[in-house]
Amino acid sequence: MLALSQEWVQSWSRSARIIGMGVLMGLGAGASMELSIEVVQGVRFDLRLVMVSLSGIFGGPVAGLISGVIAALFRIQLGGAGVPVGIAVTAIAVGLGWAGFVLRRRFGLRPSLIAALSLTEAMMPALVVLMLPQEARNVAAGTVMLPFMALTGVAFSLAVIGIEHSRYRGWLTHLTKVALSQAPDFFYIKDRQGRIVLANDAAARVSGLAAGGDAVGLTDFDLTDADRAQVLFDAEQALFRTGVPIVDFEEDVPQADGSVRTMVTTKRPIFNADGSIAGLVGVTKDLTERLALERKVSDTRAELDVVLNEMSEGLARFDDAFRLVFSNANYRALFPLTGEARQPGAHIRDILKAVVETGEQVLDGLAAEDWIAAVIEKMDTGGEEQVKMYDGRWLLIRSTPLRAGGTVVIVSDISDLKEAERNLMAVAEQMRVLSITDALTGLHNRRDFDNGLAAHFETARREGFDLSVILFDIDRFKAYNDTYGHPAGDSCLKRVAASIRDNVKRPADLVARMGGEEFAVLLPNTSLSGAQKVADNIRGAIEGLSMPHSGAENGRVTISAGVAALDREGRIETGDQLVEKADRALYAAKANGRNQVVSAPLG
Ligand code: GH3
Ligand code: MG
Ligand code: MG
Repeated sequence: MLALSQEWVQSWSRSARIIGMGVLMGLGAGASMELSIEVVQGVRFDLRLVMVSLSGIFGGPVAGLISGVIAALFRIQLGGAGVPVGIAVTAIAVGLGWAGFVLRRRFGLRPSLIAALSLTEAMMPALVVLMLPQEARNVAAGTVMLPFMALTGVAFSLAVIGIEHSRYRGWLTHLTKVALSQAPDFFYIKDRQGRIVLANDAAARVSGLAAGGDAVGLTDFDLTDADRAQVLFDAEQALFRTGVPIVDFEEDVPQADGSVRTMVTTKRPIFNADGSIAGLVGVTKDLTERLALERKVSDTRAELDVVLNEMSEGLARFDDAFRLVFSNANYRALFPLTGEARQPGAHIRDILKAVVETGEQVLDGLAAEDWIAAVIEKMDTGGEEQVKMYDGRWLLIRSTPLRAGGTVVIVSDISDLKEAERNLMAVAEQMRVLSITDALTGLHNRRDFDNGLAAHFETARREGFDLSVILFDIDRFKAYNDTYGHPAGDSCLKRVAASIRDNVKRPADLVARMGGEEFAVLLPNTSLSGAQKVADNIRGAIEGLSMPHSGAENGRVTISAGVAALDREGRIETGDQLVEKADRALYAAKANGRNQVVSAPLG
């Protein structure tokens, strides 16, 4: 009775179920009293106590109490001398139900617990007998007590096992139903005529039905268009004939909204006990989303491959153990001598050893082991480096560590860039030289003289070094131009410039054209007397050139010079003051008759 009502009761609320159980068992107890045996006048033996205890054990304290009260009412209604005793043992049966409920919850219905409860229950008839008046007790003890104890114990234990078993099966059925109905895939069972015997909710919903139950009895002809239904039907009939399952049958199914979904179906035969085929069980999965995702992934991969192979850079990915995971063709092409070694799975150390052995890269004087260690370190920390190759190419290698582990290496050929850089630097150097050179004579120009003077003046003052300046001016040069013409004047300037330069020996000395036909010589670490000698040599050398100059005092090109030197007292405070002093000496040389050297006195 309990097992049959189980499914119906399933949909009730919890408290309704408890009350329902209590009432049902109470009525059962009443019914069992109708079948009771009256041993002595007014004293009855029956199985109602078993019902009351069971109600408590499986329904809980409330259900137990309800059936206890109903059973007691029945007993009172029957009347007789045993009423007080009957009510007392009913109360004890309720108590036993409560105890059983608690123990069942705590330990589960183990055989030992069932045995203990059954024994206790079997004691009830003995308890009743004990509570009877003397005369009735003797009669009962000699007749029905022992059979009733046995009957009670056996009935109780059989009932407990039966109820527990049916509850367990009900629970399993319930779980299976829930699992099936909530599964996202479509499950269904069909008979040999293709009629649906059972379907889960998902399967029903895909056909536009509300729940699995609505699909029962329908065929594919009720659920989809006739052509498709016929194809499915024929395939199923073939399965029933041959017993060969349909596995992973893929189908594009048009939907009511116009879209198409990709379904994959597996159908297997269900056999009767005699081996004949009763029907089929089918599982259909909707793979639309998964297939779309797979397509997207493979599209993305294809795009990535295109980018990797079209990019002008070489690209390689290493894992966190420094093994090459993949590289593009350019990467291998940029390293032609070690392309073979750069295969997936290769360790960077082996690749670098191959580089050392083939001499593919210029190692900048590092020992091979140190170089390998430095490269691996850079891959770990990230960074970039310019590398010169055996064939003169320059590569820029950039390492970027990934957060997920490993490193991406991007290699660019920067040979053209390097070439451009070299050209640019050459041009810059040319411009620098031009900017400090006098165009006509090739000597330093005035700006460079000023810079040199400023630099040397500072050091000389600070360190107490000597420093001298000579200023030269060609004598009667205006007349030279007037007589021989401006171009001849220019050649004369060049010869004089060359002669001055040839007579200044030390690398630190600086010879400059200050403008027009005036020249200056800066002589670091040179005293006044030393500078005077240099000036005299130059003056003598120019005179020795014997260039004709009709407008000059002695008929040839000569030069006058003024010399000044830094004194120890520090009264000359700037480079300009030193030049002015030399200029005054030069003026004196001119006034004195030209072709001579005048030194400004120290101090
Ligand atoms: P002095 O002996 O007093 O120095 O007489 P000078 O004629 O040389 O007088 P001054 O120094 O004043 O004259 C400089 C002349 O040098 C002026 C110009 O005719 C000439 N000169 C200046 N620069 C150039 C130049 O670049 N090329 C040529 N050919 N002549 C120049
Ligand atoms: Mg002059
Ligand atoms: Mg002059």
